[in-house]
Amino acid sequence: MSCGSCAGPTAILGGGWAGLACAVELAAAGVPVTLFESAKQLGGRARSVDWRGIPIDNGQHLMVGAYRATLRLMQRLGTARLLERRPLDLRVPGFRLALPRLPAPWHLAAGLLRAEGLTWSEKRAAVRFIQHLKSLRFRLPQDLPADRFLRNQPATLVDRLWGPICIAALNTPLATASAQVFCNVLRDSLMGARGDSDLVMNRAAMGRLLPEAAAAFITERGGDVRLSHRIEGVRSDCVGLRLAGWDESFRNVVIATHPAHAAALTTGFPALAGVRAQLAAFTWQPIATLWLRFAAPPGFPFPMLGLGPGQAPWAFERNDLAPGMVAIVESADGPHLRLPPEALRERYLQRLAEAIGPLPALTDWKLIVEKRATWACTPGLDRPDPATPQPGLYLAGDYTAGPYPATLEGAVRSGVECAARILAGACSK
Ligand SMILES: Cc1cc2nc3c(=O)[nH]c(=O)nc-3n(C[C@H](O)[C@H](O)[C@H](O)COP(=O)(O)OP(=O)(O)OC[C@H]3O[C@@H](n4cnc5c(N)ncnc54)[C@H](O)[C@@H]3O)c2cc1C
Repeated sequence: MSCGSCAGPTAILGGGWAGLACAVELAAAGVPVTLFESAKQLGGRARSVDWRGIPIDNGQHLMVGAYRATLRLMQRLGTARLLERRPLDLRVPGFRLALPRLPAPWHLAAGLLRAEGLTWSEKRAAVRFIQHLKSLRFRLPQDLPADRFLRNQPATLVDRLWGPICIAALNTPLATASAQVFCNVLRDSLMGARGDSDLVMNRAAMGRLLPEAAAAFITERGGDVRLSHRIEGVRSDCVGLRLAGWDESFRNVVIATHPAHAAALTTGFPALAGVRAQLAAFTWQPIATLWLRFAAPPGFPFPMLGLGPGQAPWAFERNDLAPGMVAIVESADGPHLRLPPEALRERYLQRLAEAIGPLPALTDWKLIVEKRATWACTPGLDRPDPATPQPGLYLAGDYTAGPYPATLEGAVRSGVECAARILAGACSK
């Protein structure tokens, strides 16, 4: 049994998807919530950005059917209607894997059987790999880099299927990506129930998917959302926990910032030295998104297209934002980030034209590089638990202990889990 009013006033530091998910859960349970966000807007790494009057995303985000916590939250907030769901259809040059609407695992078996661009021996190798993972129950005896884990797979399969999935999901080059987290992703998407591998694409800017609706949900239930309010420190007092520059004590404080900012907020608590050591081991990976506006919508055969094998960009048709809008995304660090923006634009335009044919006139473009888009999902990374050794102090974010890489689902799960811990502890206090 949990009781919202027993949980007591709760502060949430950070209005990214983790902080918002936590605040929504707590507000729904009747907990008095105050959310502090340092930026002028909510959403964190999944936010809308104004581009000449069009709300674009700071980076194209893709979800899959296995994002249960995220989809549940959007259902609750009434924004799931802004999503478009399609059966998995991976198209990279020279390769296509489309999964039919059959029950699992037949959808995957039939998809592989019909996959374009693989020889029979490569298809058999893919099936052997899947059987191997199942025999291990997707649990590796020891984590290792994904490229070593995949070394017995044919190069074509790695280049066209496993590599693109791993790099897109973990946002980490294969040579340093965690094979265990890659297995977790495969278990819960491609090798999960039929709908788990569905592609779920936003058909509205990120701000409308969660941040705006979550803020309304929280304030309608008596909560407070404070924008442009950076919290610089947390300490304990005789009542509970106090925030620097805020004249009120809270029973619980949830630090829901980017992991790079979390450690600085815990320095008032010597007992959290272990958590700070865990956070100090994190490193970061970038994501580049090139927004293109054409005079007319280019003819995409499918709204998401791979523009090359291995670590290559993906193109997304985004006519929902404005006619002729396209986002081209390249995950993780690589030589592309050393190119001048104009050269990168030309390279992507050429690849897009190779994939879909002659392009309409380009009228505008904008490159957004998020340098610390995600934490590098490396083998054996020790991630902190949401509950810290300091009573009432919690961590929420895509980086807390869990099966997934830095994703919206990881962030939302973490926020929901944090709220559950606060509620579970409430009546026992
Ligand atoms: C370009 C890009 C593309 C991505 N693509 C995908 C994708 O396709 N699919 C997917 O699932 N995931 C994707 N991700 C990852 C996903 O966006 C993140 O995993 C998720 O948004 C992290 O949410 P979070 O709440 O944990 O952290 P954040 O979003 O970082 O939120 C932290 C918040 O805390 C605020 N803050 C920081 N310090 C303070 C302070 N002292 N006081 C108050 N507030 C503070 C920040 O301003 C921020 O709003 C992508 C990320 C990027 C950047």
